[in-house]
Amino acid sequence: MRKTIIAGNWKMNMNLPEAEALASGIMCECLHVQDVEIVIAPPFTALVPVWEKIKMHRRIRLSGQNCFWEEKGAFTGEISPAMLIDAGCTYVIIGHSERRQFFGETDETVNRKIAAALRFGLKPIVCVGETLSERDGGKTFEVIERQITGGFKEILKSDFQKIVVAYEPVWAIGTGKTATPAQAEEVHSFIRSLLRREKGDEVAENTSILYGGSVTPDNVKAIMSEADIDGALVGGASLKPESFSKIVKFKEEGK
Ligand code: PEP
Repeated sequence: MRKTIIAGNWKMNMNLPEAEALASGIMCECLHVQDVEIVIAPPFTALVPVWEKIKMHRRIRLSGQNCFWEEKGAFTGEISPAMLIDAGCTYVIIGHSERRQFFGETDETVNRKIAAALRFGLKPIVCVGETLSERDGGKTFEVIERQITGGFKEILKSDFQKIVVAYEPVWAIGTGKTATPAQAEEVHSFIRSLLRREKGDEVAENTSILYGGSVTPDNVKAIMSEADIDGALVGGASLKPESFSKIVKFKEEGK
């Protein structure tokens, strides 16, 4: 059974009081929501204070926004999967397009990070997606295939119980341009077919695939109505308790 997951990526936003207030606000608004896995990904500095706020209810899961593949050592500036576990994380976002674009992440580093996260018991949320020029050049499926096969190389079928995939077209991230539900569904069903080819029916049927790219309370319901879309990875709209909780509660909303 695929989980419905709504995850908020706070990126490099929120000082400590702001982060605590945002976490408390989301918790208040979403405490009664039963059938959605709610995930928030604060910046590293806010993980522990946010964990302190949310841990007693266990309704919200904590995520890192990135991790390194080594456990410890001389890797200045990096954070290990074990450290994220220590800080209360259940999930870690891996291969976000901003990491690929600004910090040189490749399918190979994504693959190493996925393997390391799994080794330490974290659930990776693995991001894939094409740029605008790749889409315009008719390369969307080629890019997604390369990211999925490279990212999940030698990752065991049994590990997919813990893996979440996020399709995030780069041209739709933080731009206000959303893929239409049909455009998103086309790629989601392609990703599911790749998972089927690479890892078998069980993995394909049970892996949650999230959509990310300017998701808001106004468009979430239409996006979530597609057969292969199992949740959302939300950037901008996750920074306010009202908008994020409306997305979490999309089933209760009118539109
Ligand atoms: C993201 O950063 O993963 C994202 C989808 O951002 P936004 O919702 O702001 O487009």
